[in-house]
Amino acid sequence: MTAREALREAARRIPPRDAALLVDQALGMGPHGVYREPQRALDAHARRWLARAVAARARGVPLAYLRGWREFHGHVFRVSPRVLVPRPESEHLVEAALAWIDAGIEVTVAELGVGSGAVLASILRMRPRARGIGSDVDPGALAVARRNFRALGLAGRVTLLAGDLTAPLVARGLRVPLLIMNPPYVPTAALAADPLLAPEPRVALDGGVDGLDFYRRLRREAPRVVRPGGHLVVELGDGQRPQVQAILGELGPVRVSRDLAGVERVMVVEIGHAL
Ligand code: GLN
Repeated sequence: MTAREALREAARRIPPRDAALLVDQALGMGPHGVYREPQRALDAHARRWLARAVAARARGVPLAYLRGWREFHGHVFRVSPRVLVPRPESEHLVEAALAWIDAGIEVTVAELGVGSGAVLASILRMRPRARGIGSDVDPGALAVARRNFRALGLAGRVTLLAGDLTAPLVARGLRVPLLIMNPPYVPTAALAADPLLAPEPRVALDGGVDGLDFYRRLRREAPRVVRPGGHLVVELGDGQRPQVQAILGELGPVRVSRDLAGVERVMVVEIGHAL
């Protein structure tokens, strides 16, 4: 079977673009490989891999899990079902954090729920003198993050800690000037009703009944790990800005910025000196 034949067969079950990307992956070819070398033959192993991947894609498994990687902020990150697939809108979280890190300054940035590491790694790649702390409640996610930091030459600048939210930082007495998080913010019922989100880790998505549980926890916990005068930078779900501002606004002045789709996506909170 040639690449072209495999593409035609796969495209009967899944969208042609997805089919082409999976054929490329099956053959270990780079972008547009199937179009550059349509006569390349698939061996038995590649055919078996492709058949399974096409069936999984037809069931709604994200392309990123099937290929095992996803591009984010100009880098390639390994992903597995233990981590959320990095979203383009989270590149905005990176940009907002970068605005608070002067290029020449040695500063430590902590990310809670670091997942694949895509956000923290993208920040550290842009700020060579910065150091990172990443925490995650799932050691399986930290294993994915560790591989990504290593692949990007960042292993020496990052400390990864297993634990729930701020607990591992508190346990070590760590306080940082910049704390970032893309918290789980999907309301539990909305999550249950969305089959597209089903393959991804619930622990990374489920924000409780109203989706705001983690913002409330951050209101309580962030002042324990952010230095007075430091900043908390969080991603917001579509339409959540007013409620999140009511919660996190108690900590200090907030600023909000929009993503490329015009959604109020990132909130920066200055943690007050008085707390
Ligand atoms: N942006 C994700 C989605 O709605 C949710 C990510 C999150 O909960 N932080 O698909």
